[in-house]
Parts: sequence; structure tokens; C-alpha cells
Amino acid sequence: MKHNISEELVQYMIGGITEVCNRFKNRAAGTQSERDAQAHLKAELEGYADEVIMEDFDEHPAAFMGFIPVAALLAAAGITLYWLNPGDGGTFSWIAGIAGVALPLFAALMFLFEFLMYRDFVDFLFPKRVSRNVYATYKPSGEVKQRIIFGGHTDAVHEWRYQWLGGVFALSPVIFGGVLTIFYILGINAARLISGNLAIEGAWKVLGWIAICTTPFIIAIMLFVNYKIIVDGASDNLSADFISMAVIKKLHDSGVRYEHTEIGCLLSGSEEAGLRGAKAFAKKHKDDLTADGVETVFISLDTMTDVDQMMTYTRGCTGTVKDDDAVGDLLQEAGKNCGKELPIAGWYPGAVDAEAFSMYGLRSCGFCALRHDPPPKYFYHTRNDDPAHLNPECIALSLDICLEAAEIFNAKGMAPFDAARKSKR
Ligand SMILES: [Zn+2]
Repeated sequence: MKHNISEELVQYMIGGITEVCNRFKNRAAGTQSERDAQAHLKAELEGYADEVIMEDFDEHPAAFMGFIPVAALLAAAGITLYWLNPGDGGTFSWIAGIAGVALPLFAALMFLFEFLMYRDFVDFLFPKRVSRNVYATYKPSGEVKQRIIFGGHTDAVHEWRYQWLGGVFALSPVIFGGVLTIFYILGINAARLISGNLAIEGAWKVLGWIAICTTPFIIAIMLFVNYKIIVDGASDNLSADFISMAVIKKLHDSGVRYEHTEIGCLLSGSEEAGLRGAKAFAKKHKDDLTADGVETVFISLDTMTDVDQMMTYTRGCTGTVKDDDAVGDLLQEAGKNCGKELPIAGWYPGAVDAEAFSMYGLRSCGFCALRHDPPPKYFYHTRNDDPAHLNPECIALSLDICLEAAEIFNAKGMAPFDAARKSKR
């Protein structure tokens, strides 16, 4: 440990996470429990931060995962229309032919924009809820010239059924099978329409029968989310909340105050509903965060549980959003100084709050240590994500690295990292 993190401070984080899990159960995005947990964390932060704000925002949290059963129904409609379409050139035939393309096409677009790219595509179709962000600052002794923000999210996810049943071995076939099914049904309907919307004969019959054989995938993706269980979210992502809070607590308790560097702590709401809290925060504050040329960087932490899996994330939203490489370099240097290499994570289907900042032109990167349990003890987005599966060693090391990142940033800012990046190009 570079920053002498006491056992007491580690216990503060573990105890705080456990308390939130016990007192604020079922903290799904946009629930009263999520808002209550945020109010509780705000009060906690007021013990050591200089200023804490809490901001409510409107959202439609059911859209991010709720589009899945809708897309499955549209795919099923695509199969039905394929077979109902007589292909006789009549009005009904053309309506069925066109609808057979339009409905699965809409399903595919929802998958692309809502799930892969984290955009508010069909959000307006789902009920409105209120979620909230908490943001704390620890001020420098002098004028604010630069700012580094650490953050986690307070909401917890509905259990992913296949992740619980068989981890990635069950999850992957359902996701890939489901997605292929939607595109297959779209494909055969489109091909048939383009070929003149003919009757089902020969090859068209074979393609139609294959479509019927995909029905199990359609049923399987409908059951993707287990709405009966909201996980505790101890690691994902209260671990990150408390590490980010502890950065300020540690500085405060040791009487350290930088001269020109402000420390921020963002506890977002509704990350599991598609980064909605961090997006709302970045959208609202992008101008004041960078006003007067104050260099602002954000390191978003997620699921700090497995030291072996600790990595720097510089790309997310399924690879469609690029984060800031130089901020990643800063994090990597901090890791190295604390004795931990933090390799750049490869492509993965998902995102962290860093991408919400990147979407609004704010400099950020992700810092995750996602635990991959061997079967049968699946952990990520399952009921196993409880306080018993927290890893104090990983939490302490993550805090050490964050404190180091703050120290490096305070000492030299982003200029040397930017210069190094430029000379690399
Ligand atoms: Zn998560």
C-alpha cells in the first residue's frame, strides 16, 4: 500500500456497503429504495466533504432491459406474418410482407440503440420514474484549477436469469441465439419482399421452417431478466461508491488539502438502466465542470472485487464509445506506483459510467475489477453479489490506486500524459 490505508478505513467501507445492502434492499433504478439510499449516502458524505448536492432526474428505467421481451414479441410476429402471407399479390399479402420486415427491423434497431449503444431510443414508450445522483466535492485550499472525479453507482440490477443458472455458458447462447434469431427473421422477410413477395414454396418453405425452429430462443430471451429478484449490488456497485467516498474521507481525515485540485465523488443513480444517472449529470454539468478552463477528468469505478481482473477501460458501450486514452494512462501510472499493472481491457459488450461522460465530451476512463467466478458460483448480476462476496483486499488496493491517481494528477495534471500521447501518434 502506498497510501497507508488503515484497517479501520477498510472496515468503514465494508461496513458502509453492508449497511446500505441491509437497509436499502431492492435498489433498482428509479425506485424509492434507490432514492433513499442516495439520501443516506449524501448524509454520510456530509461528514467529510465540503459540499454535497443531490439532484433528481426523470428517466424510463424499464426501457433498457424491458425492450427485450418487446423485441422477442416482434420477432415472433415476424415469423407469424411470414407464414400468414399468402404471397398472392393481394393487398393483405403486401401488408403482411411489409409488416413482416418492419416489425423485426424495429426489434433490431432497439437492440442496437438501447442495448448496444446505450441511447434513449424507445425510452418514451416506458413508464417515467425519478432517480437521483449525489455529487460531493472536496475543495482545494486555493483557487480550483483542475478537478478529478471518482465515482460509482448506487442502484442495483435485476438478476440476469441465465447468468445465475449457468454464468457465461448459459448467457452467451441465449444472447447470441436471440440476436441471430431477430436478424434471421428480419433477413428472410426482407429477402422475400425484395424477391417479389412470392408464395411460400421450395426454399422459402425451408427458410420458414428454420424460423419456426428459432422459437425456443425467442422464449428464452423473453425470460432474460428475473424481475422477482433485485440483487444486493454490494460489489456492483456499492464497492465503487464507498471507494470514491473514501478518497475524500482519507484526505479529509489526514488533513490533506491540495492547493489547486478539487476532488469530486459522483454516486450516480440508474447506471443499470443504461448509464442514465451519469448521462443526466454529464449533460447538466458539462459546461460548469469545464468552465474557466478547469481541466476535469473522471475515473468511473465498477465492481471492485477481483484483483486479478483489475483493468483500465478506455472503450465501452459495446465498443461504440471511446473514452480518453490519456486518462487511462494516468490510471495505469497510478496502478504501477501501487505495484499493480492495469492492462487495457479488450472489447466487451457493456459499459460503465465513464462512457456517459465521454458522450458529452468530458475526459474519462473506467476502472473495473469484475470478478469471474468459476461455475457453479456465479456472481456478476446475480443474487451472489452480496456483502459476503466483497473482497476487502481489492477494495483497499482500489482506494490506494485512486488516491495515487489523485496525487499524480495534482502534481502534474494531464499535460505530460497528453504530450506523451501526442508523441506516440
Ligand atoms: Zn452492473
